[in-house]
Amino acid sequence: MEVQDVAARLARVHERVRSACSAAGRDPHEVRVLLAAKTMDAPAVRAALLADAAARAAGSGTAPVLLGENRVQELVATAPHLTDLAPTWHVIGPLQSNKVNAALRWADAVQSVADDALALRLSQRVRERTAPLDVWVQVNVSGEPSKHGTSPAEAPDLAVRVAALPGLRLAGVMTVGARSDDESVVRAGYARLRAVRDAVVASGAPGTADADGLSMGMSGDLEAAVAEGATVVRVGTAVFGARPAPR
Ligand SMILES: *Cc1c(COP(=O)(O)O)cnc(C)c1O
Repeated sequence: MEVQDVAARLARVHERVRSACSAAGRDPHEVRVLLAAKTMDAPAVRAALLADAAARAAGSGTAPVLLGENRVQELVATAPHLTDLAPTWHVIGPLQSNKVNAALRWADAVQSVADDALALRLSQRVRERTAPLDVWVQVNVSGEPSKHGTSPAEAPDLAVRVAALPGLRLAGVMTVGARSDDESVVRAGYARLRAVRDAVVASGAPGTADADGLSMGMSGDLEAAVAEGATVVRVGTAVFGARPAPR
């Protein structure tokens, strides 16, 4: 992958975020871009990080991109090759308890906390760290059975319990949006996630006051997510190009 290609695509993503913010009357600095690196090897991810650094050096005014991996196996394979660039890694896929230690070696945040068991496990294992681990509660806003996440009804209580655990800092809530061509369906799901976030922050429970993050929106629908208040959009194909078909 050429740095120039990826640079142009990354610039286009930032442009989309900017115009979606302007349409919604939002400040583009409220929205962070996370690159979903699944199936991409370390050189491809490096090209994206270098393109990002070059754009910022040239005055783009954008915050550094975040990186996300769905699978711990890929995180562990890629992250060691990029330590010189000190990226911030988020786990964005389901995390099995037997992979927690490996994930914590590289991850700065886990966006896919969907039950108490994983939250407890993370809390127990992060103690050696100097800084708390950022965690996000993943919510299945569409109810599609294939999707990971707790239900919108159960999410606020789970988030309150997670926020109270030692070693963890609740950053917000995350979702993978509905798979639909109907933008109103997709937007309604994102509005549902925002309502969950608002309920968590309004709870006044310990550790929830700053848990105002909303991680939602991908390459195909980031405009809808920004319109509904996304603070992190997660893009893969828009920056890296199409992924190889799964074997
Ligand atoms: C792959 C993935 C993305 C990015 O999807 P694109 O459609 O390639 O932008 C975002 N979030 C999660 C959880 C993903 O698995």
